Amino acid sequence: MKLSKVSDRVYANWDGETGGNVGIIRLDDRVLVVDAQYPGSARRFREAIPRVTDKPLSHLLLTHIHGDHVFGNMVFEDLEIVSHRRLWEKMEKSLDNEWTPGNLEKMLETYRRDAPERWWLFEGLRIVVPTTTFTETWETDGVEFIHTGGHTDCSSVVYVPEDRALFAGDLLFVGRFPWAGDPTADPDRWIEAFQRILKMDVEKIVPGHGPLCDMEEVERQLKWMKEVRWIMRGLIEEGVSEEEVLDYRYPELYATERPEWQKRSWIRWYQHWSG
Ligand SMILES: [Zn+2]
Repeated sequence: MKLSKVSDRVYANWDGETGGNVGIIRLDDRVLVVDAQYPGSARRFREAIPRVTDKPLSHLLLTHIHGDHVFGNMVFEDLEIVSHRRLWEKMEKSLDNEWTPGNLEKMLETYRRDAPERWWLFEGLRIVVPTTTFTETWETDGVEFIHTGGHTDCSSVVYVPEDRALFAGDLLFVGRFPWAGDPTADPDRWIEAFQRILKMDVEKIVPGHGPLCDMEEVERQLKWMKEVRWIMRGLIEEGVSEEEVLDYRYPELYATERPEWQKRSWIRWYQHWSG
């Protein structure tokens, strides 16, 4: 896996082929890792790190709970794994339901059958939970891990003020429609998160998916999201039927390759504002 230079001490991969974007922050005596993709790609990610720094890895920071960001935790099990408290709670709980060994095995069997070319990513998957949690912010050597919510209730961003760099996690999808269908997705908090990011001193942003971007992208997506909110809330207030609200042609941010995912995002927003 190729790690490209974002700033003096920040490197990332955003080729998007094997999961969510990942990166590292090189501190004076150690390295912080941001997100972990899947077991197979996490191994390739970890192998790539010594090519840009020989310092030891100390922490893995998880931006949110989605599998394309946390299934690779097992490859970084020797590090402190840091996340928002909700991520840890949900992951612990999921060991008793969604991700019990039996369910995981079934899920993996489906992957193996339906997408054999991607099987190497999942093979041997074992759930590893965070070892350190926080509720609002967590800080180490000037790097700030900040809870925002929005894409999920545990979504957090990694701010590196000294480098004017930010890992935005899945608050930002660049070049594709944002996935906003998580049951805990909250478009109001998402908007607040964008407003908060815009107050930071940031030049380069590593999104959760898609290429490196800057504040202009945040401004554009904030404007779009507020427009959609204004329209959808208006329709809901007028008592327009659910079907019509969901079928409305909202302004386009990015075309979607998966219309059913886009629809699930609209459904989530509709539920949020009509609830
Ligand atoms: Zn996500």
